[in-house]
Amino acid sequence: MTTTKVLISGAGVAGPALAYFLRCDGYEVTVVERAPGLRDTGYAVDFRGAAFDVLEEMGILGEVRGHDTQMRGTTLVDATGAETGRLPAEVFAGELEVPKRELTRILHRVTAADVEYVFDDSISALSQDDSGVAVEFERSEARRFDLVIGADGVYSKVRRLAFGPHADALRHLGMSGAGFTTANHLGLNRSGVLCQTGSTAIYAFSAADPDTLTVSLSFAGASPELDRRGRAEQERAVREAFAGRGWEAPRLLAAMTAADDFSFSSTCQIELDGWSRGRVALLGDAGYCAAPTSGMGTSQALIGARTLARQLARAGGDHSTAFAAYEAELRPYVAENQAKGREVAVMFGGGGIPAGS
Ligand SMILES: Cc1cc2nc3c(=O)[nH]c(=O)nc-3n(C[C@H](O)[C@H](O)[C@H](O)COP(=O)(O)OP(=O)(O)OC[C@H]3O[C@@H](n4cnc5c(N)ncnc54)[C@H](O)[C@@H]3O)c2cc1C
Repeated sequence: MTTTKVLISGAGVAGPALAYFLRCDGYEVTVVERAPGLRDTGYAVDFRGAAFDVLEEMGILGEVRGHDTQMRGTTLVDATGAETGRLPAEVFAGELEVPKRELTRILHRVTAADVEYVFDDSISALSQDDSGVAVEFERSEARRFDLVIGADGVYSKVRRLAFGPHADALRHLGMSGAGFTTANHLGLNRSGVLCQTGSTAIYAFSAADPDTLTVSLSFAGASPELDRRGRAEQERAVREAFAGRGWEAPRLLAAMTAADDFSFSSTCQIELDGWSRGRVALLGDAGYCAAPTSGMGTSQALIGARTLARQLARAGGDHSTAFAAYEAELRPYVAENQAKGREVAVMFGGGGIPAGS
C-alpha cells in the first residue's frame, strides 16, 4: 500500500494540529508556511470546551497550561479614564488563555521530527485530476500530493485558488482594528482595560510579560479591502476613527506608529456552501472563521483538525466520504460559534455586512 501524501498550507494552529493527527495515522505530511519562520504575534488565544480534549490527546495540555496568562479581569473605563465596571477574566480569556506564539511553538515542536515544514513559501497554483493534485509553489519545485488542505487563515490562498475570490466567502462584521505592543506605561498586571466610546474601542492588556502592553484599537466601519493595503493607509484609517477620542487614545496612536509589530485586520467570518472541492479541503479560519469576537477560533481550529483526521481514518482513504462527514459533523458547532461572533461584534458597534460586500 502506498502512503497518502498530504500538503497542508499554513503553520498556524489548525495546520500543525492536523499534521500531528495525520502523522499518527501514517500519512506523509508536508506543511508550507508563507512566513519565514513561526509567527510571533502579540495577542493571546483561549480554549473552550472540547478543545481541551484535543490538547490532551496530543499530549500537550500540561505544557500549554504552563503558559496560562493568568489574567485577572478587565476594567471598563470611560473617555475620562474613570472606572465604570469590571469584566471577569473568562470573558476574554475563556477557560485557559495563552500567548498564541507559545501555542504555535508547541504545535510545531511536537510535529517537527516527522512532518516536513517548508517556510517562506506559498502554493501558487493547484490543479487536480482523478489521481492527485499537482501543486506549484512560489519558490520550491512543483510536486504532486494526494490531498491538499488549506489551513492558511482568513485570506487563504488555497481557498482563492480552489474555491473562488475572497469576496465570495468573506462576511465583514463591520469592525476593523489595529494591534501592536508597546511599553506597559499603564502599569497593568495580568489585567486589561477596555475603553469603549461611540464606535471605537481601546483594549489594552498586560499578561505574561509585565513590561509589555498589548493594544487593540478597533473601530466600526472600513471594508475588508483595507486588510490588503499598506500600513500607511491602515494607520490613517485608525487615526481618523480615533481623532478626538479620549482616555489614552492620543498616546496609543503615537505608540502605534512607533510599533514594530503593527498588524491590521477586519473582523470577518468565512461562509462557504461547501468546505471541499475534490481532493482539496479547508480547515480552521480558512474554511469557517468565526471571527475573533467569537473567542472560538482556536478551539474551532483544533477541533476541526481532529475531526478531519478522524473522518479520514474512518473512511479508510476515501477522501470524498471523509470530507463530507467532516463537514456534516462540524457545521452545527461552527454555526453556533459564528452566531456568537456576530452577536459580540454588534455589541462592539459592528453591524454585520453580508458575504461578498
Ligand atoms: C487580533 C486577533 C485576536 C484574536 N483573539 C483570539 C482569542 O482571544 N481567542 C481565540 O480563540 N481566537 C482568537 N483569534 C483567532 C485565532 O487566532 C484564529 O481563529 C486561529 O488562529 C485559527 O487558526 P488557523 O490555523 O485556522 O489560522 P491562523 O492561526 O491564522 O494560521 C494561518 C497560517 O497560514 C499562514 N498563511 C497565510 N497565507 C499563506 C499562504 N499563502 N501560504 C502558506 N501559509 C500561509 C499564516 O502565516 C498563518 O501562519 C484572534 C485573531 C486575531 C487576528
